[in-house]
Amino acid sequence: MNAPVRVRFAPSPTGNLHVGGLRTALYNYLFARKNNGVLVLRIEDTDRTRYLEGAVENLIGTLKWAGIRYDEGPDVGGPSGPYVQSERLSLYRDHAKKLLETGRAYHCFCTEERLELMRKEQPKRGLPPKYDRACLRLTQEEIKEKLDSGTPFVLRMKIPDSRVVWFHDHIRGEVEFQSGQLDDQVLLKSDGYPTYHLANVVDDHLMQISHVIRGEEWLSSTPKHVLLYEFFGWEPPEFAHLPLLLNPDRSKLSKRQGDVAVEDYRQKGYLSEALVNFIAFLGWNPGDEREIFTLDELIREFSLERVGKAGAVFNVEKLNWLNFQHLRKKPDAEVLVMLKEYLTQSAVDSKHFDDEYLLGVIGAMRERVMFVKDFVEKSPYFFQRPVQYDLDVVKKRWKTETTEQLKVLIGEFSRLENPQKEDYEAALHRAAETMKIGHGDLIHPLRLAVSGMGTGPGLYDILFILGKDETIRRTTSAIKRLE
Ligand code: GLU
Repeated sequence: MNAPVRVRFAPSPTGNLHVGGLRTALYNYLFARKNNGVLVLRIEDTDRTRYLEGAVENLIGTLKWAGIRYDEGPDVGGPSGPYVQSERLSLYRDHAKKLLETGRAYHCFCTEERLELMRKEQPKRGLPPKYDRACLRLTQEEIKEKLDSGTPFVLRMKIPDSRVVWFHDHIRGEVEFQSGQLDDQVLLKSDGYPTYHLANVVDDHLMQISHVIRGEEWLSSTPKHVLLYEFFGWEPPEFAHLPLLLNPDRSKLSKRQGDVAVEDYRQKGYLSEALVNFIAFLGWNPGDEREIFTLDELIREFSLERVGKAGAVFNVEKLNWLNFQHLRKKPDAEVLVMLKEYLTQSAVDSKHFDDEYLLGVIGAMRERVMFVKDFVEKSPYFFQRPVQYDLDVVKKRWKTETTEQLKVLIGEFSRLENPQKEDYEAALHRAAETMKIGHGDLIHPLRLAVSGMGTGPGLYDILFILGKDETIRRTTSAIKRLE
């Protein structure tokens, strides 16, 4: 029987969660759910120089927002904790010591200055940029002397000289590295903290991780990890390295060409459903034409077999389209909650709008908006009286006789009692017939008068939502201002 599926998302808290990080978290989550497995959140905070205050909170908050639930982690606990690496330091030291004892690691006392000089010299002498193993030649006495005198040191991994390091990757197939290309990786730093490599391998083993699913940028570290598993006498997990994320020009995804933090998309009003759907497709596809997926549908469909090797292009237009699709699918009541939340945060004075009114706006506009903010930005007239009128429309639609004609129309409207949509329409038709003019002669100027614009949802919908008094008030005011 196969071991139970246990996967992990292991971010370093060095900044706000990146879209690439969200994809790694999502794929791990989908894989865990699909295989009745467990998702672990592990915080890899051993690089103290890059630690950013607040990053863990952002990470946890962002995963929550995206609907990615983990079963074990710093805030939820679990049997393999602690889940923050800086709280596990003694474990790494103990394991590093074991490697020292078995001759798989060695002390290195080289100073930063010496290493830098070495790195400068190597290319000049046609040598690969690797540690030159000066400290591997130290005798036991020399080592003891340095340790006794308190000389700072790191522990390095002793990479075998000429070996083929081999592993199977779920996405890339068989992967091979020559050990001669690998550097004697530092495992324990002089501050007593482990490096990523040591901590990552020790934790993946102790936390019984069955599959390591992570970005392609870690592929070149994997042979070192495979060797570490061998040194410890452990069975390595299975590996899957996810394809790179690319800008539309196929360069590596970067901030220079658009937003990369999930937070930025959240701030801009993207729905988590849309972003998750979009991110799922950065490397994976269902093998058919379907494009709109909920998280549950993704869980059902996802498999590592359908993740490709080729870099995945981050196309914001596709994301926008998905946002439109997901917003459209939401029930009115849910959109109402979001719209109210948006209104309280925006400059709109929203206390006059009750739920019924807002639901009317949602009904009229929902096929026309991509974001919740569009309800206000595309149809500001539902939230305030027109401040100005579209001049092109004025020129085209507002004739000298319009004023008199609209006055007749106002007369018709004022006789209506509790008018429904159809009653406005009937009243407009009556007015047009009395004056022997076309419906359009009233419809276009009326739309301009109540909304300030030439386009929008159905005119009678707008009138019904605004109500009779407001319709008459706006039309009267337009007559005064445009006469
Ligand atoms: N801490 C690494 C990161 O920030 C984890 C890489 C891995 O998953 O092994 O992405």
